[in-house]
Amino acid sequence: MLEKDARFSREVNHRAALRRILRWTCQIAPLAALRRKISLKSAARAATIAVRSANNFMKRTHHCNELRPAHIGQTVTLSGWVHSRRDLGGLIFIDIRDREGRTQTVFDPSDLTPELFTQAAALRSECVVSITGKVRARPAGTNNAKIPTGEVEVGVTALEVLNMADVLPFQIDDPEAAAKVAEDTRLQYRYLDLRRPEMARNLKVRSKVAIATRSYMDEQGFLEVETPTLFKSTPEGAREFLVPNRREAGTFYALPQSPQQFKQILMVAGVEKYFQLARCYRDEDLRADRQPEFTQVDIEMSFIDREDIYALIEGLLKRVWKTALNIDVPTPFKRISFEEALNRWGIDKPDTRFGMELVDFSEEFKGSKFGVFGKCIEAGGVVKAINARGLAGATQGQIETMTETAKSFGAKGLAYIKVEKSADGAAVEWKSPIVKFFSEAEKAALTTKLQIQEGDLILFAADQWLNACEILGKIRLYCAEVLKGQGKLVIDPHQFNFLWVIEFPLLGFDRENNRWYSSHHPFTAPVASDIPLLKTDPKKVRGQHYDIVVNGVELGGGSIRIHQPDVQKTIFEELLAIPPEETKLRFGYMLEAFRYGAPPHGGIALGFDRLIAILCGTPSIRDVIAFPKTAKGTCMMTDSPSQVSPKQLRELYIEVKGKKPEAPAAPASAPVK
Ligand code: ASP
Repeated sequence: MLEKDARFSREVNHRAALRRILRWTCQIAPLAALRRKISLKSAARAATIAVRSANNFMKRTHHCNELRPAHIGQTVTLSGWVHSRRDLGGLIFIDIRDREGRTQTVFDPSDLTPELFTQAAALRSECVVSITGKVRARPAGTNNAKIPTGEVEVGVTALEVLNMADVLPFQIDDPEAAAKVAEDTRLQYRYLDLRRPEMARNLKVRSKVAIATRSYMDEQGFLEVETPTLFKSTPEGAREFLVPNRREAGTFYALPQSPQQFKQILMVAGVEKYFQLARCYRDEDLRADRQPEFTQVDIEMSFIDREDIYALIEGLLKRVWKTALNIDVPTPFKRISFEEALNRWGIDKPDTRFGMELVDFSEEFKGSKFGVFGKCIEAGGVVKAINARGLAGATQGQIETMTETAKSFGAKGLAYIKVEKSADGAAVEWKSPIVKFFSEAEKAALTTKLQIQEGDLILFAADQWLNACEILGKIRLYCAEVLKGQGKLVIDPHQFNFLWVIEFPLLGFDRENNRWYSSHHPFTAPVASDIPLLKTDPKKVRGQHYDIVVNGVELGGGSIRIHQPDVQKTIFEELLAIPPEETKLRFGYMLEAFRYGAPPHGGIALGFDRLIAILCGTPSIRDVIAFPKTAKGTCMMTDSPSQVSPKQLRELYIEVKGKKPEAPAAPASAPVK
């Protein structure tokens, strides 16, 4: 019976079998006239029904996370996968799992026919079954407090094997074992990986948050509008994915890095409030928090200023946190200027859940005998330090890692002091070759401002302001990770420090290419009072740009846009030095649209995958995307990207010239998002 079922199930997946069943279905219900019209899809449906009726499929009465002591005595039917099987003292215990959870079922030979018991004994992990039986309390002392159904079990009276499963490529019933499986294997068998309760939960959170987002935006009067995925190439910043156009040799679409231009045009079109859970594509080198295709909650509004965006997003995140975690997030969020963020935390997305803030000693070390500091300040630089409390015992390897970080910013090395007991244990010493150059006043300033105690590790950066901040910002995060690993820094997993980072510089300067680039994107409006500086001192111009940050993660960013075509043209041509012909080619349609009555507008985009990863407490966005790509951009399950036939290439006028050497890195400028 079992063997027959399994063979039958395998067959029904086959097209020929579907047609056979279709013929059979049509014969028993005399619908021969309709036969020709029934598609293969309806045949599949018919096939499923046929399998069910052939197997006398029992419909479930409850899901596998539903039964509680209140159900004791009821006869129930559960359907799902064999999560685990234990044979104990002649009884077989099978945990049946579905999307919602799992329930223990018990096969007792004294209640069952020998055939049914033999069938149960042949079940393997992940076979698909349906069981019927009576809910009963578990015997005293055998409750499983780890699962919500742990007080009851189902004494089985009927079993139906709906499908067998081959031996699995990896174990999915044990989170610890699954965590050790190579990620490539998990991605190759993603359908098995997604059955794991931890992954199923992530998908559920994602769905709930998407729905909560849509309802919130709808309540706020937003329209969900889809924008094209086949877009135009705007080759600045992140590398794009190109799609060849079969109709005209040598022309290409590009997949959008974001719907930025469409959403602005929707404002010109009078939509006023737009949002979309938009797919975006960037052909960048991938990291744990990047994917070549990803999702943004993309938003644009007309007739607003920055305050409207802050209020809207605070309300949205409040709703999302309540929906996903049942946490009430206090609003309004703190606002920190870009300058303050860099000054205090050395990064524009500060994690403010722990201290270790950067302290400035440029005043104290002015004219210092320690030449590295004294000269740096003389040359217009700064001296900054952090106190990594409790890290005086840092290993050589850890110090080297931090030194390499400093060097990656162009620093010559890393100055540090270990505050430790002297060899005889009688006193606390500052162990560092640089201390002998410090004056008493300098030492006193360090002690007071950094509150130095035994066990501390003091780390310095002496450089131009931005570099010094960024060096210590990186080292601060590294130290925090080390301290967390040692249990010396404990952060409550339910603490969420939201903040807005505002007043970014509108432009940055790319020394290599000797040109300005937009810090956010070229559509960002300057702060009105800074506009006169555009021509005289562009570096000082602040953009109306904002980033929303939580626990050191940039959740999203946006800006109030330039809506006057002449200002936009000046930014493109005079500041970003894009030649007029190119401006016309790339952005002409947008500049033209702006000439027909563009309302003042602004918007923001939140990284949806990142948002879900934070809510699920996972460091990798791959864990919250159903079918993600590997770090090399491969889909392990479908094995894409893959080669295509010469005919396809010919149709697209494409000639493949073999393996090319590694392409040069993308330009340093910010993407046109
Ligand atoms: N399009 C921008 C981005 O993808 C967001 C925005 O400015 O609205 O980052």
